[in-house]
Amino acid sequence: MLAARFLILYGSQRGQAQSIAEEICQQAAEHGFTADINCLSNQHKYNLDSEIQPVVFVVSTTGDGDPPDTAQKFVRKIKNKSLPHNHFSHLHYALLALGDTNYANFCNGGKTIDSRLQQLGAKHFYATGHADDGTGLEVVVDPWIEGLWDALKKTFSSMATSDQQDTDLSDCTQDNFHKNASGQEKYKSDLEVDLHLLKLSETDSQKGKAITSDSIDVETLSTVLVASLKQSVPPLSESALNVPALPASYLEVRLEKVSTEGETVPSDKDGYHEVSISKAVQLTQDDAVKTAISLELDISEQNLAYQPGDAFDILCPNRASEVEELLLRLDLQTQKNCAVQVNLLKNKHLPKLQPRAYSAASSSLQHPGKVHFVFNVVELPARPEHPARTGLCTGWLAGHVSSILWPLGTVPASERLGTSAQPKVHVRPRPSSTFHLPADLSVPVVMVGPGTGVAPFIGFLQQREKEREANQEATFGETWLFFGCRHKDKDFLFREELERFAHNGTLSHLIVCFSRDEPDAAGTINRPTYVQHNLSLHAKNVASILIKDKGSLYVCGDAKNMTKDVNDTLLEIIGNELQIDKLDAMKTVAGLREEKRYLQDIWS
Ligand code: NAP
Repeated sequence: MLAARFLILYGSQRGQAQSIAEEICQQAAEHGFTADINCLSNQHKYNLDSEIQPVVFVVSTTGDGDPPDTAQKFVRKIKNKSLPHNHFSHLHYALLALGDTNYANFCNGGKTIDSRLQQLGAKHFYATGHADDGTGLEVVVDPWIEGLWDALKKTFSSMATSDQQDTDLSDCTQDNFHKNASGQEKYKSDLEVDLHLLKLSETDSQKGKAITSDSIDVETLSTVLVASLKQSVPPLSESALNVPALPASYLEVRLEKVSTEGETVPSDKDGYHEVSISKAVQLTQDDAVKTAISLELDISEQNLAYQPGDAFDILCPNRASEVEELLLRLDLQTQKNCAVQVNLLKNKHLPKLQPRAYSAASSSLQHPGKVHFVFNVVELPARPEHPARTGLCTGWLAGHVSSILWPLGTVPASERLGTSAQPKVHVRPRPSSTFHLPADLSVPVVMVGPGTGVAPFIGFLQQREKEREANQEATFGETWLFFGCRHKDKDFLFREELERFAHNGTLSHLIVCFSRDEPDAAGTINRPTYVQHNLSLHAKNVASILIKDKGSLYVCGDAKNMTKDVNDTLLEIIGNELQIDKLDAMKTVAGLREEKRYLQDIWS
């Protein structure tokens, strides 16, 4: 029997869209469909120009509302202006867009594809879903998938009745029909036999003797009339008895083939590489509000290339205590060395543990064969449902490197750990398509990165320092860095390195602020506490760099507050400096985004 086939295409940046697409693919079989699944980047594996079966897109959003890197080629292809307006008139599709309302241009990756497909004549067979990571993707994703199956059934049946039905579809429709028809027949005859037997048993008990029939002989009857789970005998069969329905299964636990003692390792096909952590340094004082740690990964053997502005995905394992607790609840303690696949059947997305992305805080020009990154150990306060704990990945990393961690200011320059002492971690490069220094060295840049948001700018400045050494005759644009932290003496990350950049001219302006330091002896009133206050103080320069000199503005850090406040400040600066109202200022800033001269690398 052939099931109705449809195609799933996903464009994923961090794996969320891919994992939702895989979930749809898995559920398809349960609903009687067959689904082919492909990443949008594998253009040789699907052909929308001739695709007559329904297509389901799952597309995430990255950067400033861009489609994920894996969908960029596809978007370029469908944006080709020479395509006729009916290019996709044969295409029936549904689209699930993923985004985060904390970021600009919510769900824009999916919206871009959706609107272009519409322009090219494609038709929705199901309304587009817009899922918000800010409130929880599942709020939209779950009901959207739930409704997808009916929409697909309707689409297939309307396709089947049209002249354009294909062979798969007609096979499937007939098979389903036969299955249903024969299923009903079977049910009917079972029912008839049961009723017949019930009559016989009633008569038998009333008359005290066995009755033969043409269809059922005495021997069969005596066998069948034994009480069983399926059939009761008088007096039970004569009483009104309601057996509660068995609750639907909600959990599926599958044990996969036994692995070697310990852990399962991620496969190379996902692009992960096991690399050594060659150095770990604490960047903050012990009494700082947050503990920041810098790690150096040795990527020389794997030959991993990156540019400042790119990030790396890090895989971390589930917390051991939580795995133990789950095994205990599932009564699987004795199977702990097996790979156990646990799926929630009805309410789904035990979603796959997602990798965590960290910006490269280095340049390979300065550190060949190495990449650095920096993170805060996230501290989560105690809640009624759990005790105080650390963030999953940052807590794991901090524990993982504790034996090689150098406290602030103590790491010897020549320090080299023996390879055997170096902890390992699985990483995968996550290149950025836009967050890079301008190719033209003379373009001025403004960088805004408080806290660990400074990470990519350390990479930018290391690269610029090397470029300046190598191109002494070249003209370099101004570089401004707006940095902020809580206390000058506790969490001024990369202080020495930043001061070196400022001293040797790599950084034209290092503008810092300290949000929780007491006012200085002079008692400066209205001292800047946040990066945006310093941006306002340097409004003229910032506006002139962006508007007159066609420079670029980069912002990296906390998505929830800082980036929004910096954006508001930018609108004020542009409005005031150009003497335009807020709406025009918004248009100007939108123009900067479009020209990729206002770039954000923001994390929640
Ligand atoms: P943070 O919490 O953002 O704090 C840094 C400074 O920013 C503090 O002085 C803080 O002041 C101040 N601040 C608080 N609210 C602000 C606002 N609305 N506007 C401007 N400044 C504000 O620094 P962090 O803990 O290092 O976190 C930085 C963020 O960047 C995190 O979300 C992190 O995930 C993200 N990030 C990380 C990486 C990475 O690769 N690890 C890369 C990029 C970004 P107060 O606390 O005194 O209010």
